[in-house]
Amino acid sequence: LQLHGTQLRAQEGQVIGALLVLNDMTRLRRLETLRRDFVANVSHELKTPITAIKGFVETLQDGALDRREEAERFLQIIERQVERLSIIIEDLMSLSRIEQGEERHSFVLEVAPVAPVVAEAINDCVLQASQHDIRIDRQCDGDWRVAINAPLLEQALTNLLDNAIKYSSTGGCIRVSCRAEQNELVIAVQDEGCGIEAEHLPRLFERFYRVDKARSRKAGGSGLGLAIVKHIVQIHRGQIQVSSLPGQGSTFSIRLPLA
Ligand code: ADP
Repeated sequence: LQLHGTQLRAQEGQVIGALLVLNDMTRLRRLETLRRDFVANVSHELKTPITAIKGFVETLQDGALDRREEAERFLQIIERQVERLSIIIEDLMSLSRIEQGEERHSFVLEVAPVAPVVAEAINDCVLQASQHDIRIDRQCDGDWRVAINAPLLEQALTNLLDNAIKYSSTGGCIRVSCRAEQNELVIAVQDEGCGIEAEHLPRLFERFYRVDKARSRKAGGSGLGLAIVKHIVQIHRGQIQVSSLPGQGSTFSIRLPLA
């Protein structure tokens, strides 16, 4: 608590009272801590690939450039690290654009059919899925109409599908379904992948939170995908839920108020 006190005096100068102002700083402090943690996380995430790039460039300069096979291997590593940097930066920009829009209420929601958005999101991911021999099933036939911002909802679904692919084994199947439950439309993305231990579930939507850092990085994740999904769902006044069983798979459900 922050405390300010002043005496109140009449025109003649005698004290006639006191004014005490108590400011609850808890929220501000918490925001400040979150901001500091975020900057530290971003710096760390960017520093790791930069350090690797620097190291391999130096090794090339120190003579590896003359050994063709080695040089090619190092260049490939450098290329992957540059790719990783650009994914992190793209996701950071995306998250900041969405958060700003959310604060300023600048995203317009329009009542529109959901099925084409689901189909489009699946389209965005089929190539990536087929490269891992993964099938995506769609069960979203009803004429569901909800207040949506189509590009944002498509991005949220693409992020969920991208994860479902990344954390599935070759040959797996992903199911995207729509159903009505009370006054909500539930869009579920279900995979048969590695699953998530219960202790991690409450923290999954935090920026840069990962269950298995090495696996996530190897799969090309920035650690921001689900944080972006959470904000997009909030913009839609909806909710995001996850249920998962380790070794059996996960289901991420977006619940949107039905129009
Ligand atoms: P990342 O870029 O690391 O995938 P996300 O924010 O998208 O970041 O996800 C956070 C973490 O949640 C991931 O690192 C992973 O550990 C876990 N996760 C997300 N989706 C799935 C899934 N479908 N199956 C298993 N684990 C998942």
